[in-house]
Amino acid sequence: MYLIFRCAGCGRHLYAEEGTATRTCPCGKRIALKGAVVISRAQDEREAGDLVRALQMEGRDMTGFSPAG
Ligand SMILES: [Zn+2]
Repeated sequence: MYLIFRCAGCGRHLYAEEGTATRTCPCGKRIALKGAVVISRAQDEREAGDLVRALQMEGRDMTGFSPAG
């Protein structure tokens, strides 16, 4: 089982195999999985990767920065 969660530093979506203690984000922040908010779960690494990609695409529309007008 893989867990999908967000980096507390940059908000990037990450995944790690269940039971992993920490995951280091490409931004350099180390996330303790015990304290991470799990967004989703996946059966295997391929599914986890697909989920993360989908979430990243979604996140692009939810930056909270909407142009005026
Ligand atoms: Zn990060």
